[in-house]
Amino acid sequence: MRKSCDCGQAMGLDFRKVIFEGRIEIENVPILQCESCSTYIVLPEVKPHLLSLIGEWRLLEGSRLIHFNEMNEIASLLYDALYASPVTASIEHILEHKKEERINLLLDIYGFAKAKEDGMWMEDITQRLSQLTLFHTARQVSRIK
Ligand SMILES: [Zn+2]
Repeated sequence: MRKSCDCGQAMGLDFRKVIFEGRIEIENVPILQCESCSTYIVLPEVKPHLLSLIGEWRLLEGSRLIHFNEMNEIASLLYDALYASPVTASIEHILEHKKEERINLLLDIYGFAKAKEDGMWMEDITQRLSQLTLFHTARQVSRIK
């Protein structure tokens, strides 16, 4: 997750509110921000999901406030790891642990959805599971500030 900015400085993980067309507010979007020039980019691992959600939401009327960490598994993991855990443990360790917990929970829920023969629910869980399994927490994550 560590990346370098165009200016050569390291970029660190943070969260930001993203506003789209002045009416769709998305809280807790994970970003990588330069420690020197404050350039930032949406974390590449979550960008495709964010864009597809914006694509759906912009078709709806009115304004919306969405917490991205409630929609995206990676954002949720990172958010919990950075804000809800003791600062003494390493972020990689917390992430790995939380990822495992979350996968186990989702697998349990999947079993339940399957027993109910709820195809849409199963599909939602499968999509969430694939976000998690594709996300590798071993890379270095740092928090700026
Ligand atoms: Zn920079």
